[in-house]
Amino acid sequence: MTLSLVHHPDYTIDLPDGHPFPMAKFRVLRERLETELADTAVTWLQPEIAARATLLRVHTPEYLDDFLSGRTSKAAQRRSGFQWSEALVERVRLETGGTLLTVEAALAEGLALNTAGGTHHAHAGFASGYCLINDIAVAAAHARAEGWVRRVLIVDLDVHQGDGTAAIFADTPEVVTFSMHAGTNFPARKTPGDHDIELARHTGDDAYLAALRDVLAVLLRDVRPDLVIYDAGVDVHGADRLGHLDLTDDGIEARDRHVLQVCREMATPVAAVIGGGYDRDIAALADRHAIIHRTAAYL
Ligand SMILES: [Zn+2]
Repeated sequence: MTLSLVHHPDYTIDLPDGHPFPMAKFRVLRERLETELADTAVTWLQPEIAARATLLRVHTPEYLDDFLSGRTSKAAQRRSGFQWSEALVERVRLETGGTLLTVEAALAEGLALNTAGGTHHAHAGFASGYCLINDIAVAAAHARAEGWVRRVLIVDLDVHQGDGTAAIFADTPEVVTFSMHAGTNFPARKTPGDHDIELARHTGDDAYLAALRDVLAVLLRDVRPDLVIYDAGVDVHGADRLGHLDLTDDGIEARDRHVLQVCREMATPVAAVIGGGYDRDIAALADRHAIIHRTAAYL
């Protein structure tokens, strides 16, 4: 059985010098995985841009069309963290197309992984915190609308709360949101999801894994989802610039392994996205993002 990994070269675009978003990480992650997984059965899939009609499953036409056509106000651009450009629109649509493709592959094969995605702060009608289109929400809504699945569980282990996803699915009981994050972190005002766990600042590997083990298998048994979309954000790492937790590489590996194993035991397909990670050291950061792909390849 080969493992499907999803990537597009245009996940990485040029940003102005000094921009705080580590845009190069997607390219470096792909290079790293090419080398590291050269001897394993991996299939690389290249996504297409997500169609406007697909994005409309989640986003309001006003917000979407302003973004697609470059009418986003300066204030809204500041809130998003990115200056508008054609290349930015293209990359965001490719990233969302990538998560859609990851979901399709996961439903066919049991497990598939994007090398981007996890833009969980994007709401239906506005962008926030480097998140312009909510790829997780679009993929979940699209899979349901197409009749591929009925119930979806979103397991969001990025260090920040998945507020956009929670808001989008607040009135959709068939999409259950679970977010475990640092309570002191962005966004300052959380949007309650179905299951939120707020961790104390500096929570380390042991306490983190104990909290996860307590809840995940129970949640899977209760929800019985047809699909799990997993946000494997690595901004939980102690060295991350924007995280408030203290996980190590080994802790992240144990976390990812636990999620994948519990889902496999329940025969639940998993589509994983990489989520946040903001170390200035791009090599170290790409290495950290590669943990989920490496873990999946040798599961
Ligand atoms: Zn994050």
